[in-house]
Amino acid sequence: MSYISRPMSSSSHSNHAAQMPISVAGLSPRVQDLHQRVKTFIDEKVIPLEADFLKHQLSKDKWSVWPPMENLKAEAKSAGLWNLFLPVESDRDVKYGAGLSNIEYAFLCEQMGRSAIAPEAFNCSAPDTGNMEVLVKYGNEEQKKAWLQPLLDGKIRSCFGMTEPAVASSDATNIEASIRREGDYYIINGHKWWTSGASDSRCKMCIFMGKSDRSVSKHQQQSMIIVPMDAPGVTIVRPLLVFGFDDAPHGHAEVTFENVRVPVGNLLLGEGRGFEIAQGRLGPGRIHHCMRLIGMAERSLQLMVERTKSRIAFGKPLATQGTIQADVAKCRLEIEQARLLVLKAAHMMDIYGNKVAAPEIAMIKVAVPNMAQTVVDRAIQSYGGAGVSSDFPLAGFFMWARVLRIADGPDEVHLRSVARMEYAKSVNSKL
Ligand SMILES: Cc1cc2nc3c(=O)[nH]c(=O)nc-3n(C[C@H](O)[C@H](O)[C@H](O)COP(=O)(O)OP(=O)(O)OC[C@H]3O[C@@H](n4cnc5c(N)ncnc54)[C@H](O)[C@@H]3O)c2cc1C
Repeated sequence: MSYISRPMSSSSHSNHAAQMPISVAGLSPRVQDLHQRVKTFIDEKVIPLEADFLKHQLSKDKWSVWPPMENLKAEAKSAGLWNLFLPVESDRDVKYGAGLSNIEYAFLCEQMGRSAIAPEAFNCSAPDTGNMEVLVKYGNEEQKKAWLQPLLDGKIRSCFGMTEPAVASSDATNIEASIRREGDYYIINGHKWWTSGASDSRCKMCIFMGKSDRSVSKHQQQSMIIVPMDAPGVTIVRPLLVFGFDDAPHGHAEVTFENVRVPVGNLLLGEGRGFEIAQGRLGPGRIHHCMRLIGMAERSLQLMVERTKSRIAFGKPLATQGTIQADVAKCRLEIEQARLLVLKAAHMMDIYGNKVAAPEIAMIKVAVPNMAQTVVDRAIQSYGGAGVSSDFPLAGFFMWARVLRIADGPDEVHLRSVARMEYAKSVNSKL
């Protein structure tokens, strides 16, 4: 059996010789070893702690750091299972990540998706991963020293402030917050919400998006700047509830920024270059959610199979019912299809770069959360009442899959991109 496949031909891509691993067996021995160790770590150390994490989330101390997390992080770090997401091995003399390609990381990241608490244990959780990528790519030496290094070390956490309640933020040109220069400082004003992670006591910095010049073309108006979360004028208004749940201690906050003074050295890349950074940020870090959702769907299917084998209704196990079997089979089909598309997107990014991979990236952002939502929904149904309870991870998984049809850019926006690329292709078509 072959475990590798050539990139599927699509439009004008040249015939690169690189082959695409389609299963763990197609990976190098080093990555297979990492995969096995990540998997074992999650099975043996992370999943057994899920019930304790939930207890913490429901306790009065829920906004404080869940104590076992720092131990898990220390263990993962000393086992070399740390910052695996960073595809850049070195920046001049400095080594950052594990140097894995996107497709290699896809297999590891899928494993992390099996548990809501796993990504942080490996320092591979959003929004820190995207922010670290931004700092690696666009940060200057001082910014890297002050913010990137502690993030890489897992000593602090971060948030990303783009979305605003007052405007349709799926179109980032609408963002209204302002970044105005005054001598050696920028003055920041803005009202943000859905700023994930801002309420975490370890969150020390925000990558903030706002307009620095309203007189230029709309894609040059936005800038990004690092705002320390303890700067005067930064106020956490409230944690937003997602389907009634606050997702503590991470949370998704409404935050106001009122006349916050930030040194000019905190600006990323340069005035008016916010969109350029946003495009870069849409790279690897933004497909990690899709990779993780494959793992979440796999775990849901595994739970469904286990439950239906042992649950007896009307005299026989649920697993013997044709409708249940059809649901299980559909889940398997849909997971496999989605995984292949995710792997293709990761492979395209590795071989041709993020720009050429844009159609595949847009496709997975629609296909994968929808697949995961459907798979988790079937698993919930097979569990009956238990499925919507907190005794099993399924209800939380469902919430997260549904959220990602919006939070990672609404389905419609990605569909629009796919359609536009399709029409652009047809301009020169002979059909
Ligand atoms: C749990 C969660 C966490 C989040 N974390 C962060 C974060 O850390 N930082 C951050 O900045 N933001 C974050 N977000 C915000 C998220 O990125 C935005 O909600 C998303 O970009 C959509 O913007 P909006 O909510 O303003 O919706 P709007 O822009 O108002 O869009 C509303 C709806 O309009 C429809 N629509 C939009 N465009 C089109 C179109 N072209 N064609 C057809 N229909 C369309 C879609 O159905 C869309 O859902 C998070 C959101 C959630 C729910």
